[in-house]
Amino acid sequence: MRIKVLGAGREVGRSCIVVEGRKKVVLDCGVKLQPEPPQYPVIDEAKDIDFAVLSHAHLDHCGAMPLLMKRRIPVYMTDITLELSSLLLKDSMKVGRLQGYGTPFGKSDFKKFVKSSRIVGYGEKFLSCRLFDAGHIPGSAGVFLENEGVFYTGDVQTIESNLLRPAKFPAACKTLIIESTYSRRNHPLREQEEFRLVEAVEEALGKDETALIPVFAVGRAQEVLSILKEYAPKIALDGMTKTASELVAEYGSYIRNRKEFRKILKKVHMVKKGSERDKILKKYPIIIASAGMLGGGPAVDYLSRISHREGSKVLFTGFLVEESPGSNLIKTKIFENGSQKFDVECELHQFSLSAHADRKGLLSIISRLRPKNVVCVHGEHCGEFADELEGRGINAYAPKNGEEVKL
Ligand SMILES: [Zn+2]
Repeated sequence: MRIKVLGAGREVGRSCIVVEGRKKVVLDCGVKLQPEPPQYPVIDEAKDIDFAVLSHAHLDHCGAMPLLMKRRIPVYMTDITLELSSLLLKDSMKVGRLQGYGTPFGKSDFKKFVKSSRIVGYGEKFLSCRLFDAGHIPGSAGVFLENEGVFYTGDVQTIESNLLRPAKFPAACKTLIIESTYSRRNHPLREQEEFRLVEAVEEALGKDETALIPVFAVGRAQEVLSILKEYAPKIALDGMTKTASELVAEYGSYIRNRKEFRKILKKVHMVKKGSERDKILKKYPIIIASAGMLGGGPAVDYLSRISHREGSKVLFTGFLVEESPGSNLIKTKIFENGSQKFDVECELHQFSLSAHADRKGLLSIISRLRPKNVVCVHGEHCGEFADELEGRGINAYAPKNGEEVKL
């Protein structure tokens, strides 16, 4: 068997992994959006692929799926992953046009992707594979290739959140392909981070100022809504967070409390037009808007409108890729993206509400599945993580993009 990493090798972004055993399978095919320009995996092996599996709807996992459609192959995923990834892919084509980078695929490839999709539920067997709830975003899945004894975590969270149940796993596996985003550190206590977020929001409200929360439209927006449920009437949702949240409410089986989430959504304000934003800022003190790393979207528009307000707050709730506009803003208090550049006087805070397992969580997955081989992907420190696992007597690898592991 061989495992070839086409993307997410020693980096976070453009996940794409080929596993060739009895069948040739592609696991995910995403784009790396930050820093610009977007980077795509080099699909040099697409011709004899038997099928693909999409772990979840984040663009760094699904954003290049249509590239695989030059030859029609079935792509397996959960139903909500199809809905959410379709939403994000359509938007990424639009954003690509606006930014001038375009996308290496067009509408017809996107349509082929939708037509080639095959819906499967957690635990359901297809082509000797099974999906397991990954606890990362609604519909996210780890992929177990039973014939090869390979388990791919996708993006995974081992602890329960306000929105989601914790990840589930097969009893054991021979080879584990594991995301390594937080292989070097543990998250602070979740309750404590949620408390800090609520506190920061309260402080902004007390001063009659704005709390702007830039979020990933899929997953994080809904998680933040669940944490801030008491404040729902004071919240405005803007950008793709609206449709994504509606889809999550519709496919309620993927979240812990469908009834409660629907109630929250009924109370928040959905912003209809971009031209309303000045009015929205006057009326709603809490703004939840995409994009999470400020790479674009309404969050940037709101930021430009409140940038001079020292008492207002920008509240980041998770991972910021190095050199992304969000990460640079925290370091310099200057927002810069493409032709846009301005100083930001608001208070900036970052909270760790990660949808990824931390170091402890990743090690617990390994001790639970007892794999002989571990392939570390999706992390900026995969090499060190693999070295550490070698020291624990596991065959561990951290291939770069384009490299393969023969087992
Ligand atoms: Zn993800």
